[in-house]
Amino acid sequence: GDLFGKQRKNARGLNLSDPAVLQQLQEDLAAMAERTWQAAPIVAGQQMPGERQPIYSPHDQQHLAGELVCSSPSDIEQALRHASNAFEDWRLCPVEIRAGYLNKAADLLEQQRTELLALCSREGGRTLRDALAEVREAVDLCRYYAACAVEQFARPRRLPGPTGEENLLYQLGRGVFVCISPWNFPMAIFIGQIAAALVAGNTVIAKPALQTSLTAMACLRLLHRAGVPEQVLQFLPGDGAEIGRQLLSDKRVAGVAFTGSSATAQLINRQLANRNAAIASLIAETGGQNVMIADSSAHQEQLVADALHSAFNSAGQRCSALRVLFLPVETADSIIARLIGAMRLLRLGSPLDMATDIGPIIDRRALNALHRHVEILKREAKLLYQLPLPDGLANGCFFPPTLAEIPALSLLEHEVFGPILHIVRYQANELAKVVEAINTTGYGLTLGIHSRIDANMRYIRQHARVGNIYINRNMIGAVVGVQPFGGMGLSGTGPKAGGPNYLQRFANEQTLTTNL
Ligand code: GLU
Repeated sequence: GDLFGKQRKNARGLNLSDPAVLQQLQEDLAAMAERTWQAAPIVAGQQMPGERQPIYSPHDQQHLAGELVCSSPSDIEQALRHASNAFEDWRLCPVEIRAGYLNKAADLLEQQRTELLALCSREGGRTLRDALAEVREAVDLCRYYAACAVEQFARPRRLPGPTGEENLLYQLGRGVFVCISPWNFPMAIFIGQIAAALVAGNTVIAKPALQTSLTAMACLRLLHRAGVPEQVLQFLPGDGAEIGRQLLSDKRVAGVAFTGSSATAQLINRQLANRNAAIASLIAETGGQNVMIADSSAHQEQLVADALHSAFNSAGQRCSALRVLFLPVETADSIIARLIGAMRLLRLGSPLDMATDIGPIIDRRALNALHRHVEILKREAKLLYQLPLPDGLANGCFFPPTLAEIPALSLLEHEVFGPILHIVRYQANELAKVVEAINTTGYGLTLGIHSRIDANMRYIRQHARVGNIYINRNMIGAVVGVQPFGGMGLSGTGPKAGGPNYLQRFANEQTLTTNL
């Protein structure tokens, strides 16, 4: 097939450098400036009633984005019942039909793009550029998993055997999959998890991040409109801890796809293990303590541009984002000076403003955690630079790009999820120690290398236990089918999202041996 070849094409998205396209987009978005949205549990296609709570924009906490109804224990129970009853039919539904729904969803995503941009910028604080890239990624994930399923699941694989015996290998859905998605990619990861689970033959209960329930609801509606049967896909917005306690202790859950923090993944793992039930499959994509290593041969201008983009794009709220930049002592001062010069040019502001480089932090809690981290840095390390916050952002959760120097990677115990870049200086002959320090964190998601020395690149690649390595470029924005994404150790269980081996983990294998 062309799945792994050159014919498969990712979506093109919008060309914002065309002034007519840009102007049309801005007019369409302006027309939606006062729109609000709704989210509520959807069980077997029915929107469930309940108390409504307001949702405000992270960049302006007086601007209402919509209202949310959280899931009740009875909604959760009914969702489980429907999802589990619908499994048998869905499992036997031809793969081509399941894949057809995903291809249709991809078309609808493109048709509904402007509303989705407005919604996920208003609710999730995603800059327009990030949101646009995310719609493209969601489209690509739908089409990619559809193609994978048809290629890998539609017909059994014929395996060798003695004369007179036929051996076939089938891939079948596992059962009810719970998909728990994060707020930082409220469309692409939400849809990507669901798309994979569905097309592999599972029914799905989707539990979106509380902070981006409205965006998730719009995506869920879109999947139903694309043809996914209402019984097959349930939606349970609300508080993760509460819903998780009931949902993940239930015997009817056959698997969980989770993207979020490492600590939550460990909790989910324990909850699943405590059931006296079939062993559930857990697919987790979690945090990182991502490092970029520059050696003295690095091209300084490119290094600075790539480090800046990797650390501060999406306000550092990507699990792939750069957290710690290792610089050789000989060139560290000059690179730090260049970094600060480039940071001064970054623009913080409303995510809906095209000129904005860096939008808001998702909520007050996340913002306060960043402030606390900076206090620690001031006491125990060295703050090198912090961009002044521009006026007019007082109603929002904004945090300025920050540069600090720390004595060692081990000073950072946890992932710091925001626009804070840490520098560590190292001696040229201590590259092995740097790689050892990375492995010692236990995380293993992304790694950047800036070097023109083959031996250094090879050494790092061979010894660093991380999932995605990028040489002489930035280290975020993995592309579907091009850089399958996911980590090792504390960073996740694999398989890689947007990769050719993703669907298998959502399936059970069955062999059929016939004596002819
Ligand atoms: N796949 C995204 C990237 O490569 C990151 C996903 C995440 O933050 O969860 O930047």
